Amino acid sequence: MNIAEKFDGQHTVVSFEVFPPKKESSIDSIYATIERLRELHPDFISVTYGAGGVGVANPLTVQICSRIQNEYGIDAVAHLTCLNNSKADIDGLLEKLKSSHITNILALRGDRNPDMAPKDDFHYASELAEYILAKGEGFHISGACYPEVHPEAEGLVEDIGNLKKKVDAGAEHLVSQLFFENNVFYDFVEKARIAGIQVPIEAGIMPVTNKSQIERMVAQCGASIPAKLSKLLQRFGDDPKAMQDAGIAYATNQIMDLIANGVDGVHIYTMNKAEIAEKIVGNIQSMVR
Ligand code: FAD
Repeated sequence: MNIAEKFDGQHTVVSFEVFPPKKESSIDSIYATIERLRELHPDFISVTYGAGGVGVANPLTVQICSRIQNEYGIDAVAHLTCLNNSKADIDGLLEKLKSSHITNILALRGDRNPDMAPKDDFHYASELAEYILAKGEGFHISGACYPEVHPEAEGLVEDIGNLKKKVDAGAEHLVSQLFFENNVFYDFVEKARIAGIQVPIEAGIMPVTNKSQIERMVAQCGASIPAKLSKLLQRFGDDPKAMQDAGIAYATNQIMDLIANGVDGVHIYTMNKAEIAEKIVGNIQSMVR
C-alpha cells in the first residue's frame, strides 16, 4: 500500500524506525524486536540504510524490509541514500526491492562521509525521487524534512524552498528529523504549508533514554535540547532506570501534545528497543484511534 494513503484523516498515523545490525550474525535480535513491534500494530516500519554517513549498501536493509512486509504483514519503508551511489547502484537496489515487493522508499541524499568521495550521479534527494519515479515501476516516495533546518542550509526559507522541490519531484509524505520542542515543529509545518507543501508531515520522535546516546545524536543532527529536557538529563542522566522512565514520559507528553494539535502522524525512532516503544504506545493508544 502507498504509505501516503495511510493518512486518511481518521486516525493519527503511528510508525517506527529500526536500523539493521552491523553484523549479519545479529539479525535474529532485530527480528525479535520487530516481532514485538508488530503487536503494537504500527501503520508502517521503516528500515534505515547505511546511516551515520556510511552511505554504502547494507544488504540487510532489503532483507529486513522483506521480512516486515512479506512475513509480518506490515507495510515496510526502505530508506535509500544517493550521494554515494551511482545510477547503476540504485538500479540494482531497486531491482532487489521490487523482487521483494517493497514499493515504499524514503529517498534520501545521505550525510557526507569525509572518507568517501561522493559519486556524481545524484546531489540531492529530489534527484533520487525523480529518478526512481521516472522508471514507472510503481514505487512511492517519502522524504525527510528538518524542523530545525538542515545543518547545511542557509536558513529555514531556503531549506523549505528546497523541500518544496523534493515534494514537486514526487515525495508524497515527509518524515521529520527528531526534535524536542513541539513549538519548533508547529512553526515549521505552518511555514511549509504557506510554501505550498500539502503532503502529510510526520513528526519524528526520539525517546531520550540514555544521556550519552542522545548527546551523540544531537551532535550529529543539530537538534537543540530545551531547558526542561536538559534538566531531566542533569537530574537522571546517571541513573539508567530513572532516565528511561523520564525519557518515556517526555516522549509521551510530546506525542500527546502533537496529537492534540492535529499532527498527521508520529514516527518513533525506536533505536531497536521494543520495550520503550511498547511503553510509549501503551500510553497513547487511546488517543490515536
Ligand atoms: P536533501 O533533501 O537533498 O537536502 C540536503 C541539503 O541540500 C539541505 O540543506 C537542502 O536544503 C539542500 N538542497 C536540497 N535540494 C536542493 C537543491 N535542489 N538545490 C540546492 N540545495 C538543495 N541517512 C542515512 O545515511 N541513512 C538513513 O537511513 C537515513 N534516514 C533518515 C531518516 C530521516 C527521517 C531523516 C530526517 C534523516 C535520515 N538520514 C539518513 C540522514 C540524511 O541522509 C541527512 O540528514 C542528509 O544530510 C540529508 O538528506 P536529505 O535526504 O534530507 O537531503
